[in-house]
Parts: sequence; C-alpha cells; structure tokens
Amino acid sequence: MLDIKVTLSQNLKQKPADESALGFGRIFTDHMFLMDYEKGVGWHDARIVPYGDFAMDPAAMVLHYGQAIFEGTKCYRRADGGLQLFRPQDNLARMTRSAERMGMPALDEETALEGLKQLVRIEEAWVPHLDGTSLYIRPTMISMDVGLGVHASKKYLFFIILSPVGAYYKEGLKPVSIYVEDEYVRAVRGGVGFTKCAGNYAASILAGDVAEQKGFSQVLWLDGVEQKYVEEVGSMNMMFAYGNKIVTPRLNGSILPGITRDSVLKLARTMGYEAEEARLDINEIFADAKSGKLTEAFGTGTAAVISPVGTLALKDEKITIGDGGIGKVAQSLYDTLTGIQYGRIEDKFDWVV
Ligand code: PMP
Repeated sequence: MLDIKVTLSQNLKQKPADESALGFGRIFTDHMFLMDYEKGVGWHDARIVPYGDFAMDPAAMVLHYGQAIFEGTKCYRRADGGLQLFRPQDNLARMTRSAERMGMPALDEETALEGLKQLVRIEEAWVPHLDGTSLYIRPTMISMDVGLGVHASKKYLFFIILSPVGAYYKEGLKPVSIYVEDEYVRAVRGGVGFTKCAGNYAASILAGDVAEQKGFSQVLWLDGVEQKYVEEVGSMNMMFAYGNKIVTPRLNGSILPGITRDSVLKLARTMGYEAEEARLDINEIFADAKSGKLTEAFGTGTAAVISPVGTLALKDEKITIGDGGIGKVAQSLYDTLTGIQYGRIEDKFDWVV
C-alpha cells in the first residue's frame, strides 16, 4: 500500500509550556495516523488526519469481545535537535504476533512504519527537549464489525496516536517496592500472556490497586500453574543480578517479549556481563536475596527503561535486595541504553531509526 493521504489540522493546539510537568499519556498531539482493514480487500486508506473522536456503533465488536491490541514505543530528541526512534519495526512485528493470536489480521508493517515516521515528522515540534522526556507512540488495532455474534471480525481499524511524556526519573534512578502476587495470575499456558492485548491489562488492574493500597508500586506476577516461577511485572520484564551475571525468565509464551529486555540481554553481553534466560523460582530468589548472593533486581521496559527494585514482598515477608539502593549493573545498563536512545552513545546494533 504505502500511499498515505495527509490532511493537516487547521486548528493547532497549544503545546505544553512546562516540560517538567508532562506526566504520562495525558496530552495528545494535533494529528493521528489511521488505516482500515477489510477481509478480502486488506489494509487500505492509510491516512494522517487531525486528532479527534471516532464514531463507533455501540455493537462494534471490540466493545463486546475485546479484540484490541496495542504497542508502545518512543521518539527521542538528540542534543543536536534530531529525532530518533528505537527499534520501531520490532514493535510492529510484535503487534502482528499479537494479532495472530487474537484472530486479527497481520499488520501491513511497512505502511504502518512509514505512517509512524510521517506522523512523527509532522508532529516534530511536539517532541519535548528536556532531559529524559520523549514522544510516546501508541499504535493500536481494534475490531470494527457491527454485530453480537462471537467470531473474528472482518473489519479492523489501526491507528497511531502520539503523546509527549515527561522524564520517568527526574532525579536519577529510584528503587521501587514490588509485591509478589500470590492470589491472582496474569497468564496461563496456551493463553495470551505473550501478546499486548488490552484484556491482559484489564485483568491486572485489581491486583495492582490492592498492591498500591499496601504501598507497593507494582505487582510481580508468578506463573499461572504452580504460582512459583517469576514471570514479569505490570509493564516490565524482570531481571536479577548475581554480581556480574544477569538472569531473566525465559520466554515461555506467558510473558511479553519485551524489546527493552532483548536490548538489555544483547547490550549486557558487550559490557562484560553474563546474561542468561532461565526458569526462576521465587523462593530461591528470596533465599538468595537473604544470603546476599542476589545483588540486584530490576525491571526493563519502554517507560522507565531500567527500574531498580529495592524491596520485594511476598505475603508477610519483605526482603531488601542488595542495599535497597541502585545497583551498578542497573545504573550502567540504564546509562548505556538511554545513551543510545538519545544519541549520546554510538549505536553498534542498528537499533536506532
Ligand atoms: N511486560 C509487559 C506486560 C508490558 O506491558 C511491557 C511494556 N510494553 C513490558 C513487559 C516491557 O516491554 P518493552 O520493553 O517492549 O516496553
């Protein structure tokens, strides 16, 4: 396809004046990218239009049976003013993998990437300048058939919206406290854990709220069968450091294959760390934290890049990881990866677009 029609807004919004108060996902830019899918026709009508509401039939299938998938990636501003995307093709490829599992059509990844680039170019002035800020990019696909029969929809809408977001850390990395969820599970074998479907997030909200009330920032999910093996955190993959060795749960179909996770594994090996994927028993993690063998724990994800975990709690037991502060493995990975993303460090991996 690749033929993208552009209609510019005649009514540009006021850009946020204070880039230190952007927060996350509250402000949206002037335009959005859309394309439609129809069975037998394929993806068509790629277009950039002024940002605005959708008209939807109340019987649109997404509102009832939840065929909805999304992605999250960012555009970064370099010191010289230029713009960089980080592995956006990997997000679009992951969306196609999510789509297949949800009975949705594969994305036209080439047109989606071109649309994403054109949209970001049009919205160039919305990419914030302040250290650590970025333009968050949210590609989404939903089913649009009208009707209440449960079946794969024949019509879909793909769209991309953009939101300038603040620095996740304003004063350097900050360790978080995580609650190990022992009642609810996020995903089961054969389920949809590896996809970025909206339902995974809906199903996580209750446990997240309960943990927050107890003073924790997120929950760590255990496997859905034995509730014993580490899976991932709300919006991050988990990594543990034993000195210079980093271990992370292997991709087993129930966790999201994070793009930051993959980048950290590849980067770590070039920085003199060992990096390994394994099945991680939460009881061993607790024992190793107590004995001091486990030196660091941290999450990896697009939002925070690296998020050190200072404390882990399971039922009534609360443990401190290392000295509860920011470990040197987490700090060095954060500095190097953000250095590549913001163009301060040479990208030897061909990740930057
Ligand atoms: N796990 C889950 C459940 C997530 O939502 C995310 C955020 N996309 C991640 C892990 C981290 O993935 P990525 O590094 O691609 O942002």
